[in-house]
Amino acid sequence: MKFEVTILGSASATPVYNRNPTAQLLNCNERFYLIDCGEGTQQQLIKFGFKAAKIDYIFISHLHGDHFFGLIGLLSSLHLNGRIKPLYLFGPPELKEILDLQFKYTDTQLRYPINFTPLHTKHPEVIFKNNDVVVETIILNHRIPCTGFKFTEKKRLRKLIVEKLEKDQVPINYYPMLKRSLDIDLPDGRRINYLDYTTDSAIPKAYCYCSDTKYDERYFSQIEGADTLYHEATFLHEMLERALETHHTTAQQAAEVANKVGAKRLLIGHFSSRYKTLDALLEEAKLGFDNTQLATEGKTFEI
Ligand SMILES: [Zn+2]
Ligand SMILES: [Zn+2]
Repeated sequence: MKFEVTILGSASATPVYNRNPTAQLLNCNERFYLIDCGEGTQQQLIKFGFKAAKIDYIFISHLHGDHFFGLIGLLSSLHLNGRIKPLYLFGPPELKEILDLQFKYTDTQLRYPINFTPLHTKHPEVIFKNNDVVVETIILNHRIPCTGFKFTEKKRLRKLIVEKLEKDQVPINYYPMLKRSLDIDLPDGRRINYLDYTTDSAIPKAYCYCSDTKYDERYFSQIEGADTLYHEATFLHEMLERALETHHTTAQQAAEVANKVGAKRLLIGHFSSRYKTLDALLEEAKLGFDNTQLATEGKTFEI
């Protein structure tokens, strides 16, 4: 099953040096989940060969413009392009009011329904589940209420050892039971133990998205053991004071988070416009956590 994330924007605040404000596209089993939607996200989708129409779920972390100013444009384009299937939107409660006002004064009646789920911003919760993935919020510490998102793959059914099943002439109609870890009694009297004819499926993986936040150990338990941890790293550590003031994280601190929660890989992003190149940020993070990569535009990471 495909479980990968493509970075559409890595900038904080304003678009600079070919970096776009924050947005990421998660592909989980060919269903598409958009995480944040900074200005220009539509163009980034086109640039990297994705069809916006395929997105059915959008998650907005908070109401700073660099995380959602692209949303009204994207939603409008979907309408103009004839979308009728529902779109599921998750975000801070006030987002609904903002969108309603924008649609009202642009005289737009959408052809498709938006199913909006307001997020609690004080305690984490499971906000979405389907056959592929479970999504939970992560309560971050920013200037305004902000939630990150944890996407965990659903555990898959066991895998059949087809050669052995065929050799022992186990009828096909029993296969689904074996996949669900059930032993079966065949009409000829044989007992078939599922452990002998199946193997365990892969361990489910988790992607944690920590958008704007200051370093705060209170959210660590929610991102424990992430296979891939995206964490903002707006500044170099020499700017710690500024980071604290603006409720952001330094590259050194992002590495510390990854270490403390036992993440397998760290992606850093949300870079300040003061950095024309990102080498120093990467270097600083790698000093604390070696398996770090820059989450920059157009890169796709398998979770
Ligand atoms: Zn931001
Ligand atoms: Zn912010």
